[in-house]
Amino acid sequence: MNAKHLFLKYKPERDVVFFFGAGASYADGAPLQQDLLPYILSGQDKTIAESGLGAEVVEFVREYFGAGELYYPSLESVFGFIDYLISHRESLGKDLSVAKIQGVRESLVKLIHYTIARHCKSGTSVYGKFWNNVRLSSRNVGVVTTNYDSLLDEAFSLFPDAGYIDYCLHLMNYDQYETYHREIDPFNWWINPREPVPEWGGSVVSPIKIIKLHGSLDWKYCGCCAQVLLTPWNSEIDLDRRGFIRYEYYEGPDPHSPDIQPVEFTCPIDGVRFDTLIVPPSHVKEITNPVISSLRSEAARELRCANTVVFVGYSFPDADVHIRLLLKKNIKPSAKVIVIDPVIDDRKRLGYSTINDDVEFYEEAFSDALENEVLLAKIFPA
Ligand SMILES: [Zn+2]
Repeated sequence: MNAKHLFLKYKPERDVVFFFGAGASYADGAPLQQDLLPYILSGQDKTIAESGLGAEVVEFVREYFGAGELYYPSLESVFGFIDYLISHRESLGKDLSVAKIQGVRESLVKLIHYTIARHCKSGTSVYGKFWNNVRLSSRNVGVVTTNYDSLLDEAFSLFPDAGYIDYCLHLMNYDQYETYHREIDPFNWWINPREPVPEWGGSVVSPIKIIKLHGSLDWKYCGCCAQVLLTPWNSEIDLDRRGFIRYEYYEGPDPHSPDIQPVEFTCPIDGVRFDTLIVPPSHVKEITNPVISSLRSEAARELRCANTVVFVGYSFPDADVHIRLLLKKNIKPSAKVIVIDPVIDDRKRLGYSTINDDVEFYEEAFSDALENEVLLAKIFPA
């Protein structure tokens, strides 16, 4: 049966754009940035401690920062240090060439990826509640997030009758199944909301942008063709193999128990090993990845057309210079700005005061805010 197709169109203005920081995912188990390095270095996770990646990073940080039980350097300083060396092409002696330092950086990114993926509790859900509210509202909303985890996307419950996620990047999952279908698991096929989509029983469907400014744990990036494969519900990284794996099923003599083998996850176009696509925090931040730069311009456009911007759990970290600029330059002076955060100190107040004269603060957890009727009426337009 041929389904009718609809072309989903965005309105020129957005009723609300939500800006999520780490505090928004915290309730669903995602660790805060400041807890990542202590976790990685402390030795409490045996998988990290026993992996080559773990040993390499622990040795590097101990040598140059002297981490102990009472003190751990911030991730921003470690990445700032590494990025300084790389950008100045400066080595640390014969055993640590610039290429080796680059390798330590990649190892640390993979350990962060592993640590966050391991702690996220799929299925619990403040984000589930959030999407229920979106479903009942105008649905003319957008999301910009600095979080790597995929908890928000996994909780998305509007597909297929009420909404489609638009990641604002061309995923490999949209392409030519006849050519690549052997490599791209049908489970990962995805509908491109920027092309006509199948109509479901005449319901009104909204495209909703989720712009993941710092990348995502379930994006696999190919450094050769610069394309991204989305692997929903699969954020795992294998530390021993230093990369992503997928599972291949072989039919054995018993059809009920096929043989399952892990294999390296490679790009279906050119066979190159997939890489992570997350932008770590750093005091020296050079954003050169083409996917990330295009998401930044997309976020600028989305913020510019927002009538209300709601910040949830964003702490204005000092390392986020690029975000400060993005917000300052693009939020309209006439936009209403609402901040939801369980702890709002003077530093945060000051940060927000630089982006808009009139900011409303709600000092509460996101889960409580989603039960505050007065606030809900303000942020979810009917
Ligand atoms: Zn490729």
